[in-house]
Amino acid sequence: MALYRSDAFVLRTYKLGESDQIVVLFTETYGKVRAVARHSRSTRRQTASYYQPLMLLHVILFGRPAQPLHRINSVDIVQSLRHLREDFEAMRCGLYMTELIDVMTREHEPAPELFALLRLGLEQLAQTADVRMLLRLFELRLLMESGYMPQFFCCARCAQDVVSDPATFSPSLGGIVCSACVTQGRQTLTVRRETLDFLRQALTNEAETLPVLPGASAVHQEFEQMLHIHLTSRLGHELRSYAFLHL
Ligand SMILES: [Zn+2]
Repeated sequence: MALYRSDAFVLRTYKLGESDQIVVLFTETYGKVRAVARHSRSTRRQTASYYQPLMLLHVILFGRPAQPLHRINSVDIVQSLRHLREDFEAMRCGLYMTELIDVMTREHEPAPELFALLRLGLEQLAQTADVRMLLRLFELRLLMESGYMPQFFCCARCAQDVVSDPATFSPSLGGIVCSACVTQGRQTLTVRRETLDFLRQALTNEAETLPVLPGASAVHQEFEQMLHIHLTSRLGHELRSYAFLHL
C-alpha cells in the first residue's frame, strides 16, 4: 500500500452507506480511478461540497496502483470553476465535456492528454462567445486523441476521393463514403460539401483561424449531427447529458 497524489476532476459519485461515497475521479497521472471518500456526505465536513463534477481537486489516494477501489486520504481544491456552475449554459456544456471524457476512457489507463483537453475545454467555456463551436472542436480533439477520428478526407471504404455533393456519412463504415460504397439499409447521414469543407478546415487549421459559423446554421447542425451519430455509434448508447444540452 502506498500514497498517490494527483490533480483530478470528479466524473461521478455514488452513495455508500450513511455518510460515505464512491468518487469516480479522472486523475492527471493515473487516469480514471474509483476511490472511497469517507464521511464526505456529512454536512459538518468542510470537504462535503468538493466531490462534484466541474471541480478540479488535488487528491492524495491510498492503495495499490491497479486495485479497483482506493481511499481518499486528503483533498484540496485546485480550481472550483464556480463560473461554470453559476451559468446554466456553461454548466451543461461542462457536464457534457465531463461525460464525454468519462465514456471515452478506461480505468487505470493514464491519459494526461485528455486531462489537459478537459482542463482547457472547461477554462475556455468561460471565455468563448461561441460555446457550441467550442463543443465541436472539443469532440474533434477527443476523437483525435482517442484514435476514433472518422475519415473525412476520402471514402472510408475504398479510399477514393468523394466527389458527390451532398456526400454521405456512414457511422458504421467510419466516415464519408463514395456513391459506389454506400450500402443500403445502414444508417447514413447526408452532408453538404460546405459542411465537409468546414470540417476539413477545422482539422487542418488552428481554431482561431476558422471562419465564424453560427450555431444555428445548417452547416453547424450537420457538423454536430455527424459527430453525434459517430460518437453514439462508437459508444453503442446515447450520452445522458446530450438531451440536457439542447434544453
Ligand atoms: Zn468508396
